[in-house]
Amino acid sequence: MKTHRAVFLDLNGTLVLPLKQESLDEMTLVPGADTAIARLLTFGLVCPVVTVQARIEKGLFTEAEFRAWFMSFFSNLGLDVKGPYICPHKYNHVCPCQKPNSLLYQQAAQELGLDLSRSYTIGDSPQDVQAACRFGGTGCLVRTGWAAQDQVVEKARASAAFIGDTIADAVQWILSKERDNREQRNSADRLSPAADC
Ligand SMILES: [Zn+2]
Repeated sequence: MKTHRAVFLDLNGTLVLPLKQESLDEMTLVPGADTAIARLLTFGLVCPVVTVQARIEKGLFTEAEFRAWFMSFFSNLGLDVKGPYICPHKYNHVCPCQKPNSLLYQQAAQELGLDLSRSYTIGDSPQDVQAACRFGGTGCLVRTGWAAQDQVVEKARASAAFIGDTIADAVQWILSKERDNREQRNSADRLSPAADC
């Protein structure tokens, strides 16, 4: 049964910085990201992390090392995020796992019983919000990473239902939308993405 709603979280530039780490030791939490994720989880939303880690294919670290870092980082924060769902390929590599393709989101939906049409993405790149459009959900852009640049925001704008400064802003927006939906639970109206995509 696909009943759970998810907020798919991008990693670098959304939850952690820097954007292009040379080693896993460099990764630090974006301030407030832990509290924001905790709010989503408390509300009952599932939080899978979907990430492009081109440095795996480049040989800076292995997928196993990345998975071990991920488990340790989020368990130390006490956050039950799911995944990671990883594209390990270089950015110019044509692969079905690269965002905005839907493969990793579909895989998470299968494993976690998610209703993608009622799910969200939060990320700092146009590909993160375009992915939500492709799987029929709602995309939120945050300006902590790539989208700190105005030209990146412009590329993402058509696919973004919400644009905010940080993940905390996106979470605030999602939770107010979800509370409205709860109030309208008995209405036949379906949640439809605000973006024109
Ligand atoms: Zn890939």
